[in-house]
Amino acid sequence: MSKKSETAARLQKKIKPRWKLPKAREERGLLESGVVALLMRHMSEAKAESSLKALLAAYDDWNEARVSQVQEIAGHLRHEAGRGIGLLAKREPAARDLKRWLQEVFQQTHSLTLNELGEDHQSTSRLMGNLSFTGLATSSWLLGLAHPGEMPVHSGLVRVFDRLGLMTRTSSPNKAREALGPLVPGGHTMAFVHAFSEIADLYCESRRPLCQDCPLVDDCKMGKKVYKEWKVQQARLAERRKKEEERAAKQAVIDERRRLRDEERARKRAEVEARKRERAAEQMRKKARAASQKKAAQKKATQEKAAAKKAAQKKAARKKAAQKKVSKKAPAKKAARKSSAKKAAVKKAVKKVAKKAAAKKAVKKAAKKAAAKKAVKKAAKKAPAKKAAKKVAKKKTSKQKA
Ligand code: SF4
Repeated sequence: MSKKSETAARLQKKIKPRWKLPKAREERGLLESGVVALLMRHMSEAKAESSLKALLAAYDDWNEARVSQVQEIAGHLRHEAGRGIGLLAKREPAARDLKRWLQEVFQQTHSLTLNELGEDHQSTSRLMGNLSFTGLATSSWLLGLAHPGEMPVHSGLVRVFDRLGLMTRTSSPNKAREALGPLVPGGHTMAFVHAFSEIADLYCESRRPLCQDCPLVDDCKMGKKVYKEWKVQQARLAERRKKEEERAAKQAVIDERRRLRDEERARKRAEVEARKRERAAEQMRKKARAASQKKAAQKKATQEKAAAKKAAQKKAARKKAAQKKVSKKAPAKKAARKSSAKKAAVKKAVKKVAKKAAAKKAVKKAAKKAAAKKAVKKAAKKAPAKKAAKKVAKKKTSKQKA
């Protein structure tokens, strides 16, 4: 046993295929074998065989099954026990997968025979690459059935072993068989192809292999490199995510602050608006009060004016009435006024006479006063001579005494 075959055997043990493959039966055609392989994704081989028989009995051909309702196909499956809608619901996934597989085969081959798998390697490789729902693991098993005694090889299988470093990539199926044949442990070719085809199906994609999830990564030359790059990329992504989260958190804080600020502004604006409205309402109330007061004052003034007018009218009426009364007494008054005027005239005449007499008396008095003044003046002229005579006499007397 070579080192490569040991490695291949060790790696095969690491692979756990998702589904088992049925045993090859010569009496089944390729499509029927595919149906059993497909149904074994949901049930045991015995149940899948039993379901195949029920489907073959129910439908004239596979195209009729392809166009049937999922529930109808589910009714012919034999893998779940029970009755009614619950049973149909349990069988539905298997029926849905079978319908989908039939549809894929029909779309890729324009028939429902899979005879194309018996054609040349190039055609079969292309077809197997297009049967994505069928998968390389199942289609390589079908390819092995189509070419009994030959190891089924396909581009996915070659890719996996090339990346594992167990063979050199080639497009020739014969060269691939020559390289892979010695690696098969114990002559179990189908199990070997099935296991590594699962790796090609699930992880070893041509452009972006998912080495980080592949169970063979620790033994794969390319896988280690890809895994290392993936880790670096993940670290970068984690860093970017962290920064993005920090930025988002900061942005959230900013947004929250902005929201609070906007709310505060809106609240203040609402308060200002409310105050404005209150002021406007107050002004309106004041205006209304002033208008009502003015109206009341005008009413009062009108009432007062009306009362004054009424009072004036009453007064005028009273005056008129009084005048009327007076006019009735007027002749007597006139006579009284005439007699009083006469009396006044008499009094005036008497006063005039008395005044004249008083004037005469005053003239006389003045004449008397003037005469008296004249006499006084005359006497005053004689007084110095008398005074001198008295002085002489006084001197003579004093001399005599001496
Ligand atoms: S580790 Fe990567 S490259 Fe290697 S077989 Fe797996 S998927 Fe392919």
